[in-house]
Amino acid sequence: MKKRIPAVEGWLNIDPAHPRLIGTKCSDCGSIFFPRETVRCRNPRCGSSRLEATELSSRGTLWSYTGAEYKPPEPYVPRTDPFQPFAIAAVELAAEKMVILGQVDGVGVEGLKVGMEMELTLDTLLEDDETETITWKWKPVSVRENA
Ligand SMILES: [Zn+2]
Repeated sequence: MKKRIPAVEGWLNIDPAHPRLIGTKCSDCGSIFFPRETVRCRNPRCGSSRLEATELSSRGTLWSYTGAEYKPPEPYVPRTDPFQPFAIAAVELAAEKMVILGQVDGVGVEGLKVGMEMELTLDTLLEDDETETITWKWKPVSVRENA
C-alpha cells in the first residue's frame, strides 16, 4: 500500500471518508483564511496572533468556472498523455462565503452551471512507486447522486 500525502502539508485532510480543506480561524475576530495563515490575522482591524487550524465547509455553490483546453505549463504534471482538457471551478463555500479554486472531477465544462451545488473530493495529483500525492477537486453533487 502506498503512502498517501497531501499535495501541500497542512492544507488538506486526506481521509477519504472526511475530505476537508484546512484553513485558519482567528480566535479573536473569527475571520477565516485559506490558504492557512500562520503569523497574524489578516483583518486590518484585528491583527491577533491567536490563530487555530479549522476545517472548511466541504460544500459550496459554483460561482464561476473555465476550461483548461491546453496543457498548462510546468510545474503542472499531466495525468494523461495526450493531455485531456479539464474544467476549473471557483466555488463559494456555504458557511465561510470564501471562493476556492480547484479542478473539477467527474464532468467537463459542459456539465457545469453557475449556482449548482459542489462538493469537495480527493484525487491523485502525482504518484510514484511509494507515494501517492493527494489534492482536492470539486465535483457537482448531482454527479454523485446520479452515480
Ligand atoms: Zn482576527
